[in-house]
Amino acid sequence: MSAATRPQSGRTKLVAGNWKMHGSLESSDALVAALVAGAQGGAAMLLCPPYPYLKSVADRLAGSEIMLGAQDLSTRVGSGAFTGEVSGAMLADVGCRYVIVGHSERRTLFGESDAVVAEKFQAAQTAGLTPILCVGETLAEREADRTEEVVERQINAVLEAAGVAAFAKAVVAYEPVWAIGTGKTATPEQAQAVHAQIRRMIARQDATIASGLVILYGGSVKGANAAELFAMEDIDGGLVGGASLDAADFLRIHGAASSR
Ligand code: PEP
Repeated sequence: MSAATRPQSGRTKLVAGNWKMHGSLESSDALVAALVAGAQGGAAMLLCPPYPYLKSVADRLAGSEIMLGAQDLSTRVGSGAFTGEVSGAMLADVGCRYVIVGHSERRTLFGESDAVVAEKFQAAQTAGLTPILCVGETLAEREADRTEEVVERQINAVLEAAGVAAFAKAVVAYEPVWAIGTGKTATPEQAQAVHAQIRRMIARQDATIASGLVILYGGSVKGANAAELFAMEDIDGGLVGGASLDAADFLRIHGAASSR
């Protein structure tokens, strides 16, 4: 992105697609082909397909500016007898630059604790990958007015394990659990308030790292609501689930980020 199109914050907007456990070799091929053909410059675009499709998506993305990421990684580094695990080094080897850690589905459905998420964050960086650290409260926590406390606990677990300097090479995604896959989106004001809180937390330890930190919003982002979310000062793009499987909608979301 040229200096002329860089937003005032200096942070390049990022739109990341989390395909979750969807698709086939054939459908992922068609989706990537449509995105490569349709993506315009401006915001960065990142695709996070399921593990088995990473290499074929990487091959399809060759020569394009669209980046590749994974949805999860092992806490283990190096190699070893860890059946079913996939290391950060393997992800880097097939062309990933980013990896999602601590998605709420990993936390709630697969029991990942804050400590495990912090280990994965560090394992990603050890492999040279940029972790996308997901944080966010459940509906019960929001209704109990505990959003700030929950997000602070989730960020602190990583700050304590990895130190603030680690956030210079990381992305944070604020994803209210009640908005993921539900069609309910946080209002731009609700999201902005939590994004600003996250930035303040990091700024208490390092103002420069905080002002450069890319903080994505995730939770039912669509072409129809992306522009108003991305207009907020501390929202630097989106982590998109369902709508990332639809090329036209995902391109519209990317377009909304690019025009900011
Ligand atoms: C996600 O899975 O990170 C997500 C935000 O999903 P959706 O966009 O479908 O709510």
